[in-house]
Amino acid sequence: MISWNNNALRDVLKEVDYAEEIYKCIQCGMCAGSCPLRHHMDYPPRKIFALLRTGNIDLVLNSKSIFLCTSCYSCIVRCPRGIHVMDIMHGLAHYAIKMGKISRKNTATFGQEFWKQIYKRGRVDEKDLSRRYFFSDGIVQGIKNALSMADMGIIMLLHGRMKLLPEKPIKGIKQLRIMLDKAEQESRR
Ligand code: SF4
Ligand code: SF4
Repeated sequence: MISWNNNALRDVLKEVDYAEEIYKCIQCGMCAGSCPLRHHMDYPPRKIFALLRTGNIDLVLNSKSIFLCTSCYSCIVRCPRGIHVMDIMHGLAHYAIKMGKISRKNTATFGQEFWKQIYKRGRVDEKDLSRRYFFSDGIVQGIKNALSMADMGIIMLLHGRMKLLPEKPIKGIKQLRIMLDKAEQESRR
């Protein structure tokens, strides 16, 4: 159901970095046309911005599009108005989580796996992360999740966003772990 909510739009503009740039959008569709995930999105970035401008905040915050962005930068490179499309998509996803639009369990599981990956290698291995996340609710659900996202995996491979071979740890992984340990200690104080 479409709902217009001026206060909710004001909150989005306040909370999401670069969100005010939606008013520079000329709806040309370059971002949508260049997004490798567009076929999986309920609303492509162009439409997300149009929905925001008309105050349909709930539709945007409940949309799966904002969680699908893989930071490929295609939209930013091609946008004729220099809009930070990717940053806005990520900002909206963070805001949706903050507003409790997706389950805490999903974000917590994903966050834990993401942290483990960074601690292990200093970078994310998308294959490993997806496998652990998909199968966190058991084998049957994991197979369903993996099958439903298989074509996205192929697109990521084709766009170089995922490699077939396992990712190696970065140089200086030991120093990074020391920093992460320190950060964790600080966060518990
Ligand atoms: S950065 Fe995100 S929104 Fe932009 S084209 Fe890539 S996947 Fe799509
Ligand atoms: S490419 Fe830029 S101007 Fe064009 S629809 Fe996307 S955000 Fe708007």
